[in-house]
Amino acid sequence: MKRNWSLKWSLPLGFGLAWLLVLGATLFNAIRSSDESLRDFARSTAAGYAADLARDAEQGWATAPSLVESNLALLATDPAVHSVVLLDASGRVLAAHRQAWVGRKIDEVWPGFDGAWVGEALSARLPRVRADATGLQVEAAQSFGLAPAGPGSEARGRGLAYVALDYSPARAERLQRLLEERAAEMIVIPLVLLVLGVVLWRGVGRPLERLAQAVRAVRQGRYDTRVPVDGLREIAELGDAFNAMAQAVEEAQAALKAKEDQLAITLDSIGDGLVATDAQGRITGVNPAARSLCGWDLAAAVGRPIEEVLVLVDGASGAPVAPPVYRAMREGRTVGLSNHVVLITADGQRRHVADSAAPIRDARGDVQGAVLVFRDVTEAYLMRKALADSEQHFRSLANAGLALIWTADAQGARDYFNEPWLAFTGQPFDAQRGDGWLQGMHPEDRLAWRAAFEAAARVQGDYRVEYRLRHADGDYRWVLEQARPRRDSDGLFIGYVGHCLDVTHEKAADAEIERLAYHDALTGLPNRVLFRDRLEQALAHVHRSGRHGAVLFLDLDQFKRINDVYGHSLGDVVLVEMAQRLRGLLREGDTVARLGGDEFVVLLGDLAGEAETAAAQAMNVAEKVRASIEQPVRHDGLSLTLATSIGVRLLSRDVEDIDDVMRTADMAMYRAKAEGRNRVAFFEAAMQASLVHRYELEQDLRAALGLGQFELWVQAQFEGGGKMSGAEALVRWRHPVRGLVSPAEFIPIAEETGLIVPLGARVLRSACEAIRALQGAGRSLRISVNVSARQFLEHDFIAQVREILEQSGADPSRLTLELTESVLIDSFDVVAGRMRELHALGIRFSLDDFGTGYSSLAYLKRLPLSELKIDRSFVRDVPADPEDAALVEGIIAVAHLLHLDVVAEGVETPEQQQFLRAAGCGSFQGFLLHRPQPIDDWLQGVFG
Ligand code: C2E
Ligand code: CA
Ligand code: CA
Repeated sequence: MKRNWSLKWSLPLGFGLAWLLVLGATLFNAIRSSDESLRDFARSTAAGYAADLARDAEQGWATAPSLVESNLALLATDPAVHSVVLLDASGRVLAAHRQAWVGRKIDEVWPGFDGAWVGEALSARLPRVRADATGLQVEAAQSFGLAPAGPGSEARGRGLAYVALDYSPARAERLQRLLEERAAEMIVIPLVLLVLGVVLWRGVGRPLERLAQAVRAVRQGRYDTRVPVDGLREIAELGDAFNAMAQAVEEAQAALKAKEDQLAITLDSIGDGLVATDAQGRITGVNPAARSLCGWDLAAAVGRPIEEVLVLVDGASGAPVAPPVYRAMREGRTVGLSNHVVLITADGQRRHVADSAAPIRDARGDVQGAVLVFRDVTEAYLMRKALADSEQHFRSLANAGLALIWTADAQGARDYFNEPWLAFTGQPFDAQRGDGWLQGMHPEDRLAWRAAFEAAARVQGDYRVEYRLRHADGDYRWVLEQARPRRDSDGLFIGYVGHCLDVTHEKAADAEIERLAYHDALTGLPNRVLFRDRLEQALAHVHRSGRHGAVLFLDLDQFKRINDVYGHSLGDVVLVEMAQRLRGLLREGDTVARLGGDEFVVLLGDLAGEAETAAAQAMNVAEKVRASIEQPVRHDGLSLTLATSIGVRLLSRDVEDIDDVMRTADMAMYRAKAEGRNRVAFFEAAMQASLVHRYELEQDLRAALGLGQFELWVQAQFEGGGKMSGAEALVRWRHPVRGLVSPAEFIPIAEETGLIVPLGARVLRSACEAIRALQGAGRSLRISVNVSARQFLEHDFIAQVREILEQSGADPSRLTLELTESVLIDSFDVVAGRMRELHALGIRFSLDDFGTGYSSLAYLKRLPLSELKIDRSFVRDVPADPEDAALVEGIIAVAHLLHLDVVAEGVETPEQQQFLRAAGCGSFQGFLLHRPQPIDDWLQGVFG
């Protein structure tokens, strides 16, 4: 930098110089004008003096020369006067400032006197004036008329007044005075300038210098440099502005630094290689990952063309591949490389890489270079290949054997079947994927399969299940499917993998083995082992359903004797025959087994829920068995009569232990033997008693019909408005000893014994006669008659009804037959057919005790019903029980849907009737409205 003048010097000096110039000029002017005036003054004074002297001399020299002389002396007192002389025309001194000169020739006393010049003035009227070069020494000469010297001298001559003035001393004096006037100024101004210099230095120069140093420091990177904020206001403001700027720069630098650091850390730490190039493709930077991937040193790589450092070839052909930076720069966008690119490292290694390049743009958007990012994918490449190889390996493994292999996802949808599977089923994969394969499973096995699968899937466990799978040839084959959870490499459950093996042959063999293991070789009946198994199942069913079961323990009386007398082979014949008879007697679901020797057991599975009814049912079967065994066995012309003692043990919820069941049934059997053989004994004493009671009742019941102990009662029915619409016929048994027996007690017995058939006919006849009587009286009331299942299914039931209607003359449309749902259960089609036939006659049908059975809507729709009777048990608890209330409302809604009348039975309270009426029920029957009474009493009342 060129060194300029410092402000502290240049400013005061400049001022000083200027001031000196001004000072000089003014002084010069002043002196010049003073000299001018002095010169003028000198000339005019000289001329004046000469003129005055000449006038004095012309007037007075002749008369009063002394006066002239004194005037001359006075003149000479002027300090500027150098010489004053009066001359006559000849040049003789008349008077002079020096007395010595008087009378003498001027040339003699003043050798240098210019007589010529003076002489010229003699002839001029006007004074002559001249000055020397300085103009300060001036001479003037004035001629005057001179009277003759003494009296009488007439000759008038001419004289000359001469004055010489010298103003040099006057000028020197003037100069001195001038300088004295300016003296103060010349002292003060330098002082002022000095002060100014100091002030400028402190207020401007020094702060500026500091600023300059600070700026230099900032430029050298010391961004924390600050200057003190002092000096003049503007300068202080400048300092302040500088500090602010420095702070901003410092912050910007810090931010930049942080960013750079961050970027550097990022670039250094990312695993991808990164190479930056300039616009010509020369490398400007590489990150450590790129360095280690290419094997190039940073220093060696920078500045080289990228293709020298990053040698890329096509993995398959080996042809060189240009790094994509050029294309990225040319096209101005990010471009990637194809997959099979191989990088040749500095030491010659080959690495599969995936890369992409993007252009770098400057702030104006011009492409400045490019950055290439690349990654070593050798491992991934090898892994992919290994994966493909491994998959191929497992695929061939999966297809190698006979196993039908599959996999399923977490929801159980199958997503893979091996080739043996596809060949086995003969179906394409797409048809079987997901749940499609289930189509090939035997429908009967699907439930069991699903149960096994779901149970396992819930706990993500194994399962094993057998089912039938349709083979490509159309037949089902038994397969054993074994599956285990499938997990991914993280151990997460992702579904199932399983295989099926064709076990059709094993299955057949198993069945044979099982048959042998669980059956008696002689009779083919289940053996003890199987029986116990079935008993266990039956007991479980009893516990679940609340219904009863029974075990009948049989021992053939006298069998030992047959064996002893006729030999074992005939004994075997007898046993086989007995087994056949037993089998023939039992329903499906019941089990008969041979325990060994002459011991048989019968298991009755599904008896009534009510103990007494169940006991009666068991008794019934036992009686039939007993009667059947009693029949003689004919063989080879022999007729052998046997008998059996039967012990019965009921199965109820109280029974837990099957050993106990067998033991107690056995005990009962011994009691039967002890009581005289060929009879039935119950283990339960109470059962025994009630059975006796029942037995007696049954005996009495058989006689009752002949003895006319049955009476017909009726209970009236009413419409919503209170109008009587008819009545239900209810039978009563007036027992000579027991009094009135409830139909609930004797009807089941009558049904079992078949007595219900003639009894029912009797009731129907009485009811029809009543209808006829009402018709005769002009009353169109209906009568409902309860018909038991047994009765309804009697082969000639329809003929019977026709006959009774005919004989009584009753209008069939006044007759309603009440059936319970139990009628429908066993033989729906037969029942429905009969109903339609009777309905064609005009007879109405009512479904009794509705709600207690299992009627489905579909069934109801197919029957010619006119009426539903809501069972008493539901009416009992409305409206208090919300569940029953909802049920009753539901029944009424269903009835309306099917266009059926609804009768509520057992209405005992106004609240019940109120509720039922609100729910839409149309007819009511119950103690609230009418208690059953003998039909004749009622008829009298009606006719009344
Ligand atoms: P069911 O057909 O449901 O008859 C209605 C039963 O409810 C009758 O009992 C009747 O007296 C009773 N009852 C009527 N209103 C009320 C009431 O407000 N409260 C109470 N607690 N009970 C009421 P019953 O007469 O003892 O008959 C019982 C069952 O015997 C009948 O039930 C029916 O299934 C059967 N039954 C009666 N007569 C015959 C018949 O001639 N033939 C057939 N096959 N069965 C009959
Ligand atoms: Ca009824
Ligand atoms: Ca009923």
